[in-house]
Amino acid sequence: MDSGEIKVFKGFRSQYNDALGSFKGGIRFHPKVNLSEVKALSAWMTWKCAVVGIPFGGGKGGIIVDSKKISKEELERLSRGYIQALGDFIGPQIDIPAPDVYTTSQIMDWMMDEYSKTKGYNVPGVVTGKSLEVGGTKGRKYSTSQGGVYVFEKAVERLKMNPKKINIAIQGFGNVGAFVAEILFALGYNVVAVSDSRGGILLDENSSNCRNKIKNTKQYSLNIMEVIKFKKDTGSVVDFPGTKNITNEQLLALDVEVLIPSALENAITEKNVGKIKAKLIVELANGPVTPEADKKLDKKGVVIVPDILANAGGAIVSYFEWVQNLQNYYWEEEENVAKLKVIERAFDEVWNKKESLNISIRLATYPVAVERVAKAEKLRRNI
Ligand code: GLU
Repeated sequence: MDSGEIKVFKGFRSQYNDALGSFKGGIRFHPKVNLSEVKALSAWMTWKCAVVGIPFGGGKGGIIVDSKKISKEELERLSRGYIQALGDFIGPQIDIPAPDVYTTSQIMDWMMDEYSKTKGYNVPGVVTGKSLEVGGTKGRKYSTSQGGVYVFEKAVERLKMNPKKINIAIQGFGNVGAFVAEILFALGYNVVAVSDSRGGILLDENSSNCRNKIKNTKQYSLNIMEVIKFKKDTGSVVDFPGTKNITNEQLLALDVEVLIPSALENAITEKNVGKIKAKLIVELANGPVTPEADKKLDKKGVVIVPDILANAGGAIVSYFEWVQNLQNYYWEEEENVAKLKVIERAFDEVWNKKESLNISIRLATYPVAVERVAKAEKLRRNI
């Protein structure tokens, strides 16, 4: 620590399956990280990569830490320490970490640098989600959100919803939630409520911050660009002028058409599922709906685009970053964004499976993903 004291932090890496390629998955820094969570997330990464057809297996990591409570220098030493402890188990052809909850491109840069130091040469392909200057790829930072918006629009089309009449609430305003809000707002959708770990805000009809009043358009939305600026200055979206403060629980229960959970797992549980009014849920967080709540929502006819499909955009562009690192040849942002559209093909494939088997979208992701992994296992190991 900066004080000279030694403090030990506990960290994990779980490698679930690598039949389709190197293990792949983020590292999260959060006080509630635990081994079973990391294991579950590494399994989901396996199905996520498989369902969208990228040649990776599934891994995941984490450190138990409240990164808001340590200094930048301590954060750097902790990130480098993770590589010192686990460096032998990762590598561009073994296991490729990336950002996740409360981990940033700066943290990835430190990890790449530490790994390269141990090798004695630059190894940019050891992690993805890096800064552009050190081997990152353009558009990676908003790719999870962009992919989510692509599948959201596919779902809107399939469900024949009127895009102009959709009110959206977004839980989480971090690496994923803030970019989803920004992209949807720019596309003209109504984002009426957002929240972060400290609480949420709901658009107040009389607010001067309403897009409606500013641009004189029909859009009835929080001015997301202003909310982003506000959060940068104050540390939270709470108290954004012209809105009503609400709790995260109230946000989930709002009378909106679409809910986009973009924070942590277990946001919608048996306890609050009865209050959900949204018709469409797009899971940009990993595991935001518990299995019990999922059954109830399905029974009620709520359509859920599940995490391993909805939030696969980050993993997809991570794949492009890794490919570019290996070739040392870098593409333009437009190419990444255009190539990210493979997520739409995956959506169609899963949707067709859902129709033919008459099951939920979540269940339909499994035959697609598991079959790919199983086929690879059979071909490689004859099991
Ligand atoms: N942490 C992200 C996820 O859960 C991205 C993983 C990656 O890019 O490897 O999908």
